[in-house]
Amino acid sequence: MEQARSGSVGPPRPTADVAAIGAPSDAEVRRYRTLEQRIAAAMADAPVIQSIRLATIRKVDQREAGMRALRDPEGLRELAARIKQHTLDQLPRYLEQFSRHAVAAGAQLHVADDAAAARRIIVEIARAKGSKLAVKVKSMTTEEVHLNDALLAAGVRTVETDLGEFIVQLDRDRPSHIVTPIIHKNRKQIAAAMQRELGVEYTEDPTRLSLLARDYLREVFRRCDLGVSGVNFAIAENGTIVICTNEGNGRMSTTRPRVHIALMGIEKLIPRLADLAVFLKLLARGSTGQPLTVYTTLINGARRAGEIDGPEELHIVLLDNGRSALLGGESSEVLRCIRCGACLNACPVYRNIGGHAYASVYPGPIGSLVSPLLTPSAGHHDLPRASSLCGACFAACPVKIDIPRQLVRLRATHKDRLPLDKRLGMKLWQRVMMSPRLYAWAQAGLRLALPGGQGGWVDGGPGPLKAWTLFRDLPPPAVKTFRQRWAEELADD
Ligand code: SF4
Repeated sequence: MEQARSGSVGPPRPTADVAAIGAPSDAEVRRYRTLEQRIAAAMADAPVIQSIRLATIRKVDQREAGMRALRDPEGLRELAARIKQHTLDQLPRYLEQFSRHAVAAGAQLHVADDAAAARRIIVEIARAKGSKLAVKVKSMTTEEVHLNDALLAAGVRTVETDLGEFIVQLDRDRPSHIVTPIIHKNRKQIAAAMQRELGVEYTEDPTRLSLLARDYLREVFRRCDLGVSGVNFAIAENGTIVICTNEGNGRMSTTRPRVHIALMGIEKLIPRLADLAVFLKLLARGSTGQPLTVYTTLINGARRAGEIDGPEELHIVLLDNGRSALLGGESSEVLRCIRCGACLNACPVYRNIGGHAYASVYPGPIGSLVSPLLTPSAGHHDLPRASSLCGACFAACPVKIDIPRQLVRLRATHKDRLPLDKRLGMKLWQRVMMSPRLYAWAQAGLRLALPGGQGGWVDGGPGPLKAWTLFRDLPPPAVKTFRQRWAEELADD
């Protein structure tokens, strides 16, 4: 490791095999554990959940302060939603416009219908260029297609350059938040991972840890021959792609290597450069409350003659992977998402279970929608149930996606895949609610099963009611039902 840090011999080694021997994949987790089991396991890890709670509550406060600083936050959200929906409604036209301008600016365009095609295209480019060491900007889309594993299998080592993603990779872990991938880790865990994998001193000082990571990554940047990124926004009128980061690694990764490959979901388009200002104001505020991300990089084609930096080749891979199937349908609003993470921070369920319990690249409320919608056969049908439908996600979303409405819709779609006990329970509930006599019996039964405890609140109950009342304050059922009182009132008259 001394060699790698000094930069004298050989490429940096510790992260070389991380992708191959990392934590169980999301698919493996889903295969062996139900949603309920994953949630129970997550909630049992009290220190992690406490860290996530504190971090998300802080982020909610920061977001609210950031939004309050805007002159008309509601108007801006409305405008952002309209621009995105308009673009989605006319996506073929804007895709054609973007493609024409991007090619004219010197980019090479590729179209990937699904994740496998995206991996194949990117691996072929890497092979053709003889790439051995890739640097990567944090990107949910590359996570979605599991790009790192494919590149590693093709002999290309990929090093994450966003600090959080770098630590996740180093620690053979999985990200647990779409903006803050190490929201579940504390300083001790980070320090231990860096000491173990990089052979550096043990320190819990955040500044020192950052400097150690920077030393390591600097050597990686010096040796890399391929840069891979996602795309935050793509501007149809001039073929420009936009990458937003807070650490400057995005610029290093897209200008230092000879070849830059940008994997872009087709929903990232916006019509005009002027529209970008609307989304830049909302993206960083939604994530961290910042007015803007620290680095906003606009890339228009590859390096031109006379320019001093930039890649010799820019490849833009347009990824569909289930997106076009949503266009024009009831779920198309889901494609407005700009991946700001505000809905995760606002969600009481996410706060109490963290990101890993979702066993999906996209966790949280938006993950409970996009995962089953984009990959219906991947076993994500239970995720829409991971919500209290309180509406906090909708209130936080900068592009006004009605997440609760979409979750209810998806629940209905997948109702036949509920576990047997839940299906039987819902059938029983339906019978009771549709029969006045059964309803009256159920009320009488509940009065017996849920007597008021100390202080007048229900603090226990038989069977499933015990778990239900464990964390919930519930007043005991009224001594007389509404119908009994109604009948008595009529009799008095
Ligand atoms: S759904 Fe809305 S709040 Fe959630 S990540 Fe997407 S844009 Fe942000």
